[in-house]
Amino acid sequence: MINYLYQEQNWQTQLSQLITDPHELLDILQLPPEQLLSGAILASAEFKLRVPRAFVAKMQKGNPLDPLLLQVLPHHLELEEHTGFVTDPLGEEAANQLAGVLHKYKSRFLLTLTGACAVHCRYCFRRHFPYQENLPKNEDWLPIKNYLLQHPEINEVILSGGDPLTLSNRKLAVWIERLESLEQIKILRIHSRVPIVIPERIDEELTYLLKNSRLRVILVVHANHAAELDDTTCTKLSTLIQAQVLVLNQSVLLKGVNDSAEVLVELSQRLFEAGVLPYYLHVLDKVKGAHHFDLSANVTNQIYTDLLANLPGYLVPKLVREIAGEKNKTPLYGAVTF
Ligand SMILES: *Cc1c(COP(=O)(O)O)cnc(C)c1O
Ligand code: SF4
Repeated sequence: MINYLYQEQNWQTQLSQLITDPHELLDILQLPPEQLLSGAILASAEFKLRVPRAFVAKMQKGNPLDPLLLQVLPHHLELEEHTGFVTDPLGEEAANQLAGVLHKYKSRFLLTLTGACAVHCRYCFRRHFPYQENLPKNEDWLPIKNYLLQHPEINEVILSGGDPLTLSNRKLAVWIERLESLEQIKILRIHSRVPIVIPERIDEELTYLLKNSRLRVILVVHANHAAELDDTTCTKLSTLIQAQVLVLNQSVLLKGVNDSAEVLVELSQRLFEAGVLPYYLHVLDKVKGAHHFDLSANVTNQIYTDLLANLPGYLVPKLVREIAGEKNKTPLYGAVTF
């Protein structure tokens, strides 16, 4: 099977050979199509199946409940309507002032350079958001620069998306150079799932680019389960850590995927082995189509209580929710009244 050739290929080739056909995915995983295929085809009409072969290679063959598969395979339950589950749960469409820019958090400024992702995560709040229509072009740098100059409190720029590491190194270099030209910017943060789903994305050129930036670079990857962190992935992440990049991980708490303290403990320990620290554990954004991943507040609290009891503090991610209009991510556990 050509499935295994991905290791020899560079990341651009992998990005051009994503699996988008549910039939092919089930075939590779040796899953009988009867139960899963029709729902997958229906649900992918709303939000397409999209998954790199390197990520599929981390899945267990013959297991329809594989925690990595559940994150990417369209499911008929996505088509159900549920009250409270909406297309724009974070109200981001309203917060959008300039092309590709989101400034909701005081010192941090979110820059979206692409709407594309290497993988389509079924629970993602961006599944309905029209980023594609609102991306900054070269001529948008001037207004963005002026905005930053008018807001000297901004010292950190977050490249988010979509997924910024689907962009070429050349394009990234252009934007990093622009940001470096502003003295007030000290920190460059990159939010990306690509290093997890296509580890070869961390190539020499990218490592060189980040290592030699004037900015302090933070990479926040996104893995939800220890099985996402195979040896290749961990080795690639270590390369960046050796290049002085701070690597953190964020996860989403997902029913059926990582809804137990054991699974989350294993994830934190595996991250730590790779030199990565857990940062956030997000509760699910109430996005239309993701209801079947949702967990009750009680279950969530129980899992988090067990997590606290089983890990050193530095391996416990912060449990948070993003609430539309709030000035920061809202911590959900341990609120104490004095
Ligand atoms: C999450 C987020 C940030 C970054 O927040 P941190 O708490 O610093 O990780 C910045 N801007 C927006 C719009 C966000 O949603
Ligand atoms: S933005 Fe992140 S979570 Fe959403 S689909 Fe893209 S990679 Fe997945």
